[in-house]
Amino acid sequence: MRPERSCPVCGSSDTSAFLQRSSVPVHQDVVLASVAEARASGRGELTMYACGDCGFAFNAAFDQSLMSYGDCYDSTQTCSPGFSAYVNDLIGYLVEEREVRNCTVVEVGCGKGEFIRRLVGYPRGNITGYGFDPTHVGPDVEYGGRLRFEKRFYDEHASSLPADVVICRHVIEHVPDPLQLLSAVRRAAEQRPNAWVCFETPCMEWILRHSVFWDFFYEHCSLFTSSSLTTAFELSGLDVLRARHVFEGQYLWLEGRPARGLIRAHKNAGDVIKLAKRFSAFEERMGARWRAAVARALDVAEGDVSPRRVAVWGAGAKGVTFVNLVDPDCRDIQCLVDVNPNKQHRYVPGTGHRVVAPAMLGDERIEAVIVLNPNYVQEISAALRQQGSGVAVIDLMAELA
Ligand SMILES: [Zn+2]
Repeated sequence: MRPERSCPVCGSSDTSAFLQRSSVPVHQDVVLASVAEARASGRGELTMYACGDCGFAFNAAFDQSLMSYGDCYDSTQTCSPGFSAYVNDLIGYLVEEREVRNCTVVEVGCGKGEFIRRLVGYPRGNITGYGFDPTHVGPDVEYGGRLRFEKRFYDEHASSLPADVVICRHVIEHVPDPLQLLSAVRRAAEQRPNAWVCFETPCMEWILRHSVFWDFFYEHCSLFTSSSLTTAFELSGLDVLRARHVFEGQYLWLEGRPARGLIRAHKNAGDVIKLAKRFSAFEERMGARWRAAVARALDVAEGDVSPRRVAVWGAGAKGVTFVNLVDPDCRDIQCLVDVNPNKQHRYVPGTGHRVVAPAMLGDERIEAVIVLNPNYVQEISAALRQQGSGVAVIDLMAELA
């Protein structure tokens, strides 16, 4: 438990709470073998604070000891063609535009290794790769030794490994002390001249501006804006080379390199406190609105004898958070649908909703699917048309706008 509510990035005591949820599942990206296990899985408190000085947001009630990123943790998203294309574009950007070639790349928190594997496999890239992740499964060595996996956390013991580029995607939001991670990465980059680092993480400003209530969950104890991630870089001795938004504005992408000498941190909270207050009011009203949206999806107002059978697309963090908020007793939503075969025929933490394959929608007599991320609406609609399914697709963000 964090002992105080001062900002873990800039140390400011000017922080304010904007979101409180009790007894939320601590894991979102695990699936369990039985309903009983799923309902018995660990719970914690979500108490999100925002910093009025740098704009960083953090869960003041986060308890690292509740987390276990073991073998059943699976945040793989590349089963989705749209996400897979996004990853390929990112790799093309790194190799072709940023000239990441003939060098050593370390990926911190590589998950199952899809990203570093594709990067090392890029034609004529001649990249040597190291992937660090305690949840990695599979061979330790690939590409005849050009790619190696270390099944552990990346920490100060690993930062002596010389790297030309250190990549860290969708990890820093899981870490309660982001400066510790950034400092370890900076030390690794310092081993080589001209080495640089890049981080990708959700943009909290996008979440707040679009009131995406299912994007606040326990695993994400640290959420950044472009400005607060810049501050965190600077306080860790990294000069920011470029900052941009990617994935239709949902993610931040920052590149930096070890600073020569001391640098001054530019703290700028921007609109974060105003947006957080607006979100706070929204969260209070939201219960009624999301129940109405689900009721519309169920089509109960049409005078049907029985409500429509509805599923939620995606058993990742968004889907798991959504069903825990809107259908905690597992009554309105029949199941979650996921293209990742490792998640199918298993149960999501908290509610115990079952996960099925897209091809099972007919057998489950599903009439409508709720899609939470607008980036996937077209892809899912096309996939359903292709399998000859008449299931309706509900773009929930458009519904709630
Ligand atoms: Zn701060």
